[in-house]
Amino acid sequence: MTKQKALLIIKPDGVQRGLIGKIIARFERVGLKIIGLKFEMASKEKVVAHYPETEAWFAKVGQRTLTNYEKKGLDARKVFKTNDAVAIGKIVKGWLITYFQESPVFMCVVEGYDCIEIVRKLSGNTIPVLAAPGTIRGDFSHDTIDLANEQNRPLRNIIHASDTPEDGEKEVALWFKPEELFNYQLAGERFMYII
Ligand code: ATP
Ligand code: MG
Repeated sequence: MTKQKALLIIKPDGVQRGLIGKIIARFERVGLKIIGLKFEMASKEKVVAHYPETEAWFAKVGQRTLTNYEKKGLDARKVFKTNDAVAIGKIVKGWLITYFQESPVFMCVVEGYDCIEIVRKLSGNTIPVLAAPGTIRGDFSHDTIDLANEQNRPLRNIIHASDTPEDGEKEVALWFKPEELFNYQLAGERFMYII
């Protein structure tokens, strides 16, 4: 059993709405260990490096639009001038750069067993209108794909949470220096036999 690390980013909409404390409290409540915290004004280069530049990622993001548009009987070409998933994904990535630079973002590194599964569960579905009540995205937003795309912006879904253990390691290394991460004992380690 190895511990995993996850990077959480409270995106500009979460920071602007004063939700930092409420959101971080949810990760503490479940027993994850916070090992790093800071504000950062994200550079364009960091945002570009943060979200993958792979065809697979662009296709996943573009397909999210196409699936949602099909469900609602809408035509993605009206906004994107194309219905190619990869091309749409590239446009969304451009919007993410603008979004991430609206205000400082608040970064947090958490650690624990099955940490990735826990942070994704607490964050909820990427599309806030589909995110279950009780999740961060479900409780604090009701944004939709078609509204976001029509307004030429990404989903304002409050939080980023690492998706896989490998992504967690990579993202933590991108945003945090080793000396910005702290090791200490949390009560749960002794009394809950976890973390
Ligand atoms: P994150 O990586 O931010 O935690 P995620 O892993 O749930 O979110 P990704 O597929 O990695 O989702 O997409 C990254 C971010 O890009 C989303 O959180 C959302 O803000 C935005 N996004 C993704 N797909 C779309 C889309 N089709 N239209 C608008 N915005 C999108
Ligand atoms: Mg992601």
